[in-house]
Amino acid sequence: MNVALVTVGDELLAGDTVNTNAAWLGRRLAERGVTVERVTTVPDRTDDIAEVVTEYRERYDAVLVTGGLGPTHDDVTMAAVARAFGVDLIESESVLEWLAENGGYSRQDLTEGTSHVPEGARPLHNDVGVAPGCVIGTVYVLPGVPSEMEAMFERVAGEFDGEVSHVEFVDADEPESGLLDRFEALRERFEVKVGSYPGEHVRVKLEGEREEVERAAAWLRANVTAPGEE
Ligand code: ATP
Ligand code: MG
Repeated sequence: MNVALVTVGDELLAGDTVNTNAAWLGRRLAERGVTVERVTTVPDRTDDIAEVVTEYRERYDAVLVTGGLGPTHDDVTMAAVARAFGVDLIESESVLEWLAENGGYSRQDLTEGTSHVPEGARPLHNDVGVAPGCVIGTVYVLPGVPSEMEAMFERVAGEFDGEVSHVEFVDADEPESGLLDRFEALRERFEVKVGSYPGEHVRVKLEGEREEVERAAAWLRANVTAPGEE
């Protein structure tokens, strides 16, 4: 299963907020064997959100959109997703009922628009905050606040799956350029995907079938200088 992530918010583009939602969703989806093919950040602008949602829902098995759900003037995600599907935003009875039962909110307590979702969408309740998310077609609309987004994703996590690969990391205390021969040998000897992430040490990521990855990792560990090793 291939998906695209769309993270909405001017503050993400300006660097005021670090896009932890993309990283968190990327990890959770990878754990489930789902491949994230795109992460796109767009401003709080209806046209821009509608445009990427329209494009990505044709291209990928699912699209996850986070942010811009609340009642403030810059929260336009629901309207943009409705536009991408050519439907109106409508007040959801099931959202009103859920908010009344779980938060004690009556319709009058809620800021205008809070209980609106695109027509035909399945609302997703917010266990941590107020504003609901929704699923329409293959598009999942989740909140921006990380704790709210995470709780809501867990409600639908079972709808995301794929072939889960095994991953092992091997740290090498050698310059990355010096490791090229070992990377080549790894690819010749083993059916594994090799990722190389330089930092203080070089972190090598091996991914594939469990036994193959275990063999490749054992071989690599025997053939690189580990951090702290002479
Ligand atoms: P609310 O209903 O509270 O308005 P919301 O769903 O509308 O929430 P936003 O208004 O977009 O979400 O963002 C709410 C908070 O979550 C902000 O502080 C924002 O910086 C943070 N946030 C939004 N998107 C992300 C993200 N991708 N990664 C980390 N934090 C984020
Ligand atoms: Mg908001």
